[in-house]
Amino acid sequence: KRRSEINTEALVTSILNKDITALSRAITLVESKNPKHLEKANTIIKACLPYANKSIRIGITGVPGVGKSTFIETFGKHLTSKGKRIAVLAIDPSSSLTKGSILGDKTRMDDLVKDDNAFIRPSASGDSLGGVARKTREAIILCEAAGFDVIIIETVGVGQSETTVHSMVDFFLLLKLAGAGDELQGIKRGIIEMADAIAINKADGDNLKHAKLAKVEFNRALHLYPEKSSDWQPKVTICSALKNEGIDAIWELILDYIAITSKNNHFNAKRNEQNKFWLIQTIEEQLKSTFFNRPEVKTALENQLQLIKDNKTTPFAAADYLLSLEI
Ligand code: GDP
Repeated sequence: KRRSEINTEALVTSILNKDITALSRAITLVESKNPKHLEKANTIIKACLPYANKSIRIGITGVPGVGKSTFIETFGKHLTSKGKRIAVLAIDPSSSLTKGSILGDKTRMDDLVKDDNAFIRPSASGDSLGGVARKTREAIILCEAAGFDVIIIETVGVGQSETTVHSMVDFFLLLKLAGAGDELQGIKRGIIEMADAIAINKADGDNLKHAKLAKVEFNRALHLYPEKSSDWQPKVTICSALKNEGIDAIWELILDYIAITSKNNHFNAKRNEQNKFWLIQTIEEQLKSTFFNRPEVKTALENQLQLIKDNKTTPFAAADYLLSLEI
């Protein structure tokens, strides 16, 4: 056997034995562009699936500078001190361009990196958000098989990345800053709607009173949104990631959410919905790429574009024609 030959069975056994090196190697396979690696990755994921699904998946978003990495570090340490094992993943569609703007620089979570009960993995790079998302979804499964109790997925508000993270987590936390009365400006409405909780960070020092005011405003604003199907009323809290204040309250809040949604079965229903979403999404992406990569489609597409330009056909007629091309 060549030295580079990967023994998938041994790798799976190691992952199930909570071996972090094995977990990292498996995630690297998932992220690889080499078809042989992907084949191995699929074998590993399949073997890990029966052991997955047992963690609490938490999405965290907020603008750069809001304190995401500080929060994740404090929150993460809090959880490991309670005996939990936590994994931190990221979705950053811009990372292929900027070489990892979030989590790329691991020193941002100095203490957590050194914690034996924490695993931190920077965002996969990829050409598309869909590609990055898929790799992260698969990394979640691997982390769960490796026995992590809590999986945190960090994202910045680039394009659709929040929606993507929302579609793979149980609980979505939005970090905000208190401003001078302009808290509600410049927030994408959809993100507030997705949030299960809003934590106003940097509620310390002189900023504390602003944070308390912001909390009132957000609470008022949240009442304008329709009630969620989960029977969960999104909560607004204040915290200081830097001073470790209000962090335990957020964890308690998440536990409340899990308890309520487990009881009314929303928790499982949501995961089922998410699986359905990813199934359909994957099929759509694959159909699309198979279609557009066919050489005859590529040629015909050029021709049809020219015909449209010359006013000889319409985009709709051209689409009908292209879709009707025999393989
Ligand atoms: P990110 O870009 O969202 O990951 O933000 P960082 O975690 O890198 O934090 C940005 C800056 O805000 C850093 O200088 C942090 O030290 C600071 N910061 C983060 N959380 C707090 C907090 O709770 N209080 C205060 N005063 N500063 C904070």
